[in-house]
Amino acid sequence: MDTPAPLIDPFARAIDYLRVSVTDRCDFRCVYCMAENMTFLPKKELLTLEELDRMCSTFIRLGVKKLRITGGEPLVRKGIMTFFNSMSRHLESGALRELTLTTNGSQLARFADDLYAAGVRRVNISLDTLDEKKFADITRWGRLKQVLEGVDAAQRAGLRIKINAVALKAFNEDELFTLQEWCAERDMDMTWIEVMPMGDLGNEDRLDQYWNLKDLRARLAERFTLTDLDERSGGPARYVRIEETGQKIGFITPLTHNFCESCNRVRLTCTGQLFMCLGQEDMADLRAPLRASADDRQLEEAIRAAIARKPKGHDFDYSRQTVDGQMSRHMSHTGG
Ligand code: SAM
Ligand code: SF4
Repeated sequence: MDTPAPLIDPFARAIDYLRVSVTDRCDFRCVYCMAENMTFLPKKELLTLEELDRMCSTFIRLGVKKLRITGGEPLVRKGIMTFFNSMSRHLESGALRELTLTTNGSQLARFADDLYAAGVRRVNISLDTLDEKKFADITRWGRLKQVLEGVDAAQRAGLRIKINAVALKAFNEDELFTLQEWCAERDMDMTWIEVMPMGDLGNEDRLDQYWNLKDLRARLAERFTLTDLDERSGGPARYVRIEETGQKIGFITPLTHNFCESCNRVRLTCTGQLFMCLGQEDMADLRAPLRASADDRQLEEAIRAAIARKPKGHDFDYSRQTVDGQMSRHMSHTGG
């Protein structure tokens, strides 16, 4: 069989990274991500596990090398391990280089060993605070203890962990060093994420919560020697090494940095919508061509047509302290 042409967008960027949201549901209700009384999609709207498999396998055939599973909370999707187990065949064949996930950690105690067995080697765990009360406040429904047990289980299983924390002024500013030290002790890297103008924060003002990562970095530099690392992931993260601990710290600043020129990724929602850019509304429905025929030709054509529309960059702009370019969809929809 001929190898299909890889996915190259109009700006000569090779698309080899797919993020897939496998559910819009979650067992937490983080204030920056969801409203407390979220309405979730009816089940029939969701891609089935078999459809998710077909979708991902098609992308892999077209050159996707890295697959990140996200949500909502990916590990609350019923039967999700069937999907991970099935994706492991692409790791074994060498078509896929990395299978990974972003999780809130609540279900890791249950699934860490199975994930490792399926070929997952690294996980991103979202954790904004090590204070039980603050954790309960920010996640509304989460329990810190359960997540910490998940972190332990994942390390025992041999999974390498990166902790993702959303930087929120007047919330976890005072935990900058506590979190960093906790991660260093456990040999975990860490990434700080700037809060994005998505979803809703109820009555709270998102701009009040905004903690500029330049400030955060400057505070780290008061105590540690930071060396900029060249490594780019094709995404909005920049990395430094803390010389004193050897730890890698990332800064995700989608609002203030222009990372679009090296963007290598697209995002698939749990209903089969493909977003070519996190900051733009344009999307392509891939569920219709997937369901239209058992053969993947129409789906492949729809994927190529979508990639041909991938925009040059995004429109977020906090610089004038407004939320221009604000997106109405929730992070739990596109998976962050
Ligand atoms: N439930 C999983 C989790 O929390 O890791 C995966 C999905 S969650 C939408 C993915 C990431 O998006 C998490 O690290 C979360 O902190 C981040 N996130 C959610 N809403 C955000 C926002 N408004 N600004 C910045 N990051 C956000
Ligand atoms: Fe759930 Fe993750 Fe959103 Fe928190 S950030 S509500 S854990 S999807």
